[in-house]
Amino acid sequence: MCGIVGYVGKKEALPVLLQGLRDLEYRGYDSAGIAVLNQGKIFRVREVGKVDNLVNKLKGKTLEGSVGIAHTRWATHGGVTEKNAHPHFGSSSLGEPEVEGKLALVHNGIIENYREIKKQLKDQNFSSETDSEVLAKLIYENYEGDLVKAVKKSLPRVRGTYGVAVMHQDNPNLIVAARLGSPLVVGMGQNEYYLASDVTPMLPYTKRVSYLDDGEVAEISTAGVKISNLKDEVVKKDITRIEWDKEQAQKNGFPSFMLKEIFDQPIVFEDAIRGRFNMQEGTAILGGLNMTEEEKRDVKRVVIVAEGTARHAGLIAKYAFERLANLPCEVDSSSEFRYRDPVVNESTLVFAISQSGETVDTLLAIREAKRKGAKVRGVVNVVGSTIARETGAGTYIHAGPELSVASTKAFTNMVTVLLLYALEFGRIKQTSPATGQRLLQALLEIPEKMHSILKQSEQIKEIAKVYAKYQSIIFIGRGVNFPVALEGALKLKEISYIHAEGMSGGELKHGPLALVSKDLPVIAVLTQDQLYEKMKSSVAEVKARGARTLIIANEGDEEVRDLADEIIYVPKTMELLEPLLNTIPLQLFAYHMAVILGKDVDRPRNLAKSVTVE
Ligand code: GLU
Repeated sequence: MCGIVGYVGKKEALPVLLQGLRDLEYRGYDSAGIAVLNQGKIFRVREVGKVDNLVNKLKGKTLEGSVGIAHTRWATHGGVTEKNAHPHFGSSSLGEPEVEGKLALVHNGIIENYREIKKQLKDQNFSSETDSEVLAKLIYENYEGDLVKAVKKSLPRVRGTYGVAVMHQDNPNLIVAARLGSPLVVGMGQNEYYLASDVTPMLPYTKRVSYLDDGEVAEISTAGVKISNLKDEVVKKDITRIEWDKEQAQKNGFPSFMLKEIFDQPIVFEDAIRGRFNMQEGTAILGGLNMTEEEKRDVKRVVIVAEGTARHAGLIAKYAFERLANLPCEVDSSSEFRYRDPVVNESTLVFAISQSGETVDTLLAIREAKRKGAKVRGVVNVVGSTIARETGAGTYIHAGPELSVASTKAFTNMVTVLLLYALEFGRIKQTSPATGQRLLQALLEIPEKMHSILKQSEQIKEIAKVYAKYQSIIFIGRGVNFPVALEGALKLKEISYIHAEGMSGGELKHGPLALVSKDLPVIAVLTQDQLYEKMKSSVAEVKARGARTLIIANEGDEEVRDLADEIIYVPKTMELLEPLLNTIPLQLFAYHMAVILGKDVDRPRNLAKSVTVE
């Protein structure tokens, strides 16, 4: 998410920084800014929107200097405004307050305890609503002539995540950078050095890079790069030689965005939950709901409007709202909702789910819901998107930019955020603290479990080879795994163009079973939940009719062996969380199938990433 660029050397910094920002554009952002240090002064320019807007604003301005930092922001704390854009100043400014400061900082990530730190600062003059400005001021207050020391004194007070870069006007050739959770790479040129969130901005200048690890601080000056940890011990870093071109670098070495995004899931999942747990109370804290306890209690019904993959995420949430919060929950295709006569009123809470936040069907659906008095909240990925703005409240899923048309990591993060909403409502209705705590604990274990599934990618590829010869595949699941079956089928259709249908195991014998034969394989999500026995019967029915079967089963489940031609094992988790794991093998299956069939995985025919037409 978002990006940092820095340069220390002998060239003019401005063009290097601007090009760097452009190279990071694929990561997605809402505003951009730049600060250059020259002759003991730091000048800054920031602008909302694309890097082009920043470039326009810079026209006619001279921002000379060969040391600078730049940032593309993906707002988490404070709206998308120029004042909230980075770099932030640590000093209450000199000269023209918007333009000139003594210390400048760019930050990616979230300072979770920024309120606490904010209260303790001497300077209470804030010019933004961000968590990042608080860190800039903290470092500035700790500065006693040594910028590295000031940074090292400040960072241990921070809870949360950061990739930061800082300059101070009295240190003419120095950038101090540090990382905890948000990536930073240092590029080694000839007496000049680069810093960025990934290697892309430095590729035109150098192929030699060092990746900062968590807890490390880099002192980047014209004299060289020194890396140490917060205990002040020097860290000896390897220099890696990058052989990638720019596009390969954006894909982080993966052959496609889709595969990269599938593998991103354990990391971005952490972004979806960060700062949103109250472990003690066994509940979630999603500020975006923007409702008093009273208003929450007045909600009598939940309606979820979405399309495609987002609708499948909604269908999973339905189980959670009903089970945890005893709230009736209906999930509707946005395009249908709008043209029916949907029954919603003041006691209905409508969630609009959309990765891009621009899905026009969903946008029109929420306008309709609002007109009828319902409360509407967005669950979207792209910050500042139309749905985010029009709902004015809701939660970002923090999946980071998703560039593959077929959605993967946005799906898992949508499910996660909706589960947290269901828990939040559950805890003021019928869910006990102990159940809440168990659910939160189980969520914390999800990334590790996702990793163990991702490790099986090659094995899933071998299985996909076996299924590549079929014309059509049926996916079945029950309970929370029914929407997983729908999502598995959708992924396969989208990118491999193989006909696929997802359905509940129970539905099979009411018609579709007529299709089943040795030429129509069945993929069954058969983990050990409440409906395990019933699902086994459904699989036995298709097996009896000669179908080839691929089963997604829990690790250690020997009983399914007789029913399966192929098995993919996944770790066990709480039933409501199963979709977060069980969907991943199906994503990988669809991905490998598309590659085997020679399809363009990232850009499937006839489809667009964000559907802005009705
Ligand atoms: N939390 C910071 C903000 O909202 C940084 C966001 C980012 O990573 O771009 O400004």
